Amino acid sequence: MLAIIIFASCKNQTALKNYSTYSEIRQDLEAGKISCLDLVNAHLEQITARNTELNVFLSVYNQEAQEKAKTIDEKIKAGKAGKLAGLVVGLKDVISYANHPLQASSKILNGFIAQFSATVVERLLAEDAIIIGRQNCDEFAMGSTNENSAFGITRNAANPNHVPGGSSGASAVAVQANMCQVSLGSDTGGSVRQPAAFCGVYGLKPTYGRISRYGLIAYASSFDCIGIFGKSIDDVALVLEVIAGVDNYDSTASHTPVPAYTQNLQLNEKVKVAYLRESLESEAIQPEIRKAMQEKITFLQKEGHIVEAIDFPLLEYILPTYYILTTAEASSNLSRYDGVRYGFRSEKVEDLDSLYKKTRSEGFGKDVQRRIMLGTFVLSANYYDAYYTKAQKVRRIIKEATDKIFEKFDFWLMPAAPTTAFPIGNFASDPLQMFLADVFTVQANVVGIPGLAVPCGVDKKGLPVGLQILAHHFKEEKLLTFGKYLALHSC
Ligand code: GLN
Repeated sequence: MLAIIIFASCKNQTALKNYSTYSEIRQDLEAGKISCLDLVNAHLEQITARNTELNVFLSVYNQEAQEKAKTIDEKIKAGKAGKLAGLVVGLKDVISYANHPLQASSKILNGFIAQFSATVVERLLAEDAIIIGRQNCDEFAMGSTNENSAFGITRNAANPNHVPGGSSGASAVAVQANMCQVSLGSDTGGSVRQPAAFCGVYGLKPTYGRISRYGLIAYASSFDCIGIFGKSIDDVALVLEVIAGVDNYDSTASHTPVPAYTQNLQLNEKVKVAYLRESLESEAIQPEIRKAMQEKITFLQKEGHIVEAIDFPLLEYILPTYYILTTAEASSNLSRYDGVRYGFRSEKVEDLDSLYKKTRSEGFGKDVQRRIMLGTFVLSANYYDAYYTKAQKVRRIIKEATDKIFEKFDFWLMPAAPTTAFPIGNFASDPLQMFLADVFTVQANVVGIPGLAVPCGVDKKGLPVGLQILAHHFKEEKLLTFGKYLALHSC
C-alpha cells in the first residue's frame, strides 16, 4: 500500500516538475504518458502541502476538478479535446464562476455565490481548462501586498516572511508554488505585474479592452483589466489567445482582431527600446534591480538593437492622477454594497440609515474605507473640479506624452517595482509609502497600454527580481515576442 502511495505521488511530482509550458503537457497527454487526472491530483497535492502555510486558495474545487479531468481524459482519447485540455487554472477572488463563492476577499460579500460566469471563465471552460479554485487577494483588489484581505495575508513562496505583492498576490504564488499552471488575476494599477515580479513568474496586463471585464468585480472601471500569470510566455500567449476579444456583454471589449499569439513568438527583427534614465541611476531603486536593467540593456545593445535613455518629466504626476481617479471610480462602484443586496448585513441595525452605515463600516476593511472616503471627497461638489476634472486632464496629457514615446520606440523597459518583495508588515503604519511602490506599474493603466513582467534572477536574499516591458496599444503580439527573447537571454 505504501509503495503504491509513493509511486503515485512520485509520478505526480515528476509530472509537475517538468512542465513549464502547456505544450509539453499536451504532448504527454496525447501520448498517454499522463492524464488530466494526474495533473489535477499533482496540483491538489501541492495545495495540500503548502496552502496552510502560504494561504493561497480560499476555496479548492477538489472533487469537481477531478470529475472534470476524467471527462476531459475521455475527450482526449476521442480526439475531441479543446485547446486548453487539462490546463489547471486558478481564479483570483474577483472573477465570477457561476455557483461558486465570490467575495473579493471582503467580509462584505460573506456567503455570496456567483450567479453567472465571467466571459473569461466561459472561454476557458469551452476549451477544456480545469478550474481548481479561488485565490486570496487584497480586498476589492486594493493593495500592493496581499495584506488587506479579510482572509489574512498570503505569503511569498520564495520566503514566507515576505509579501507576494498585490493585489493578485495569491494568484502569483499559486503559479510560483506549482499549485496551478496558470492563474487569472486583475490589474488596475499593477496588480498582476508587481506580484508576478515579486514571485518570479510571468504576468501580463493587456491593453484596456483586450479582454472582456464581464464578470470581473469592479474596482476602477476605466483602469481594470483581467491579466494572466504563467510559468512561461507561451502559456500566457495561449491563454490570451483564448480569452481575448470582442464580447457582447462588455461594450469596452475591443473589436480589434485577436492574433494567433502563440504562432509567432520568435523575434526576427531589430527593435528600438527606451528606458528611463532614473531606472539605472536612482538610489531609490534597489541595486540588484538596477543591475538587472543594466544587464538587459547591455545585452540588447550587443545584439544590435537600439536602446536609448529617456526622461519622462511627468513621472511624478502619474501616481496622484492614478489615486485620484481610481478612488473616485471605486467610491462609485462600491456604493452597491449597501447591506440590502449582497452578502453581509450588520446585526445591529435600527433603521435604513444605520443599515447602510453599520454594514459598510463593519463589512469593509480599513484600506477600502480609506479609498471610498478619498474618492467621495474628490467627487464632492466643492472639490470636483480641483481634483477629479484636473486629474482627468492630466491623464490625457500623460497619455499623449506616452504615445509620443511609442512613435519612436517599440518598447519601454523599466523595473516592475523599485524593490523586491517587502517583509510582511513593512507598510503597516504608512499606507502612503505603499502607494509609492506602484510608481512603475500605474502608468500602463492610466494610459491603457499593455505591460509584461518578466522574471530576471534573484536578489542577494534569494527574492525574485522582475522587470517590466511596456508596448503601445494592442501590441501584445510584439510584447510577448520581445518578452520571450529577453527572458531567454537570462540575467
Ligand atoms: N496597488 C494598486 C492599488 O492599490 C494596484 C491595485 C490593482 O492593480 N488592482 O490601487
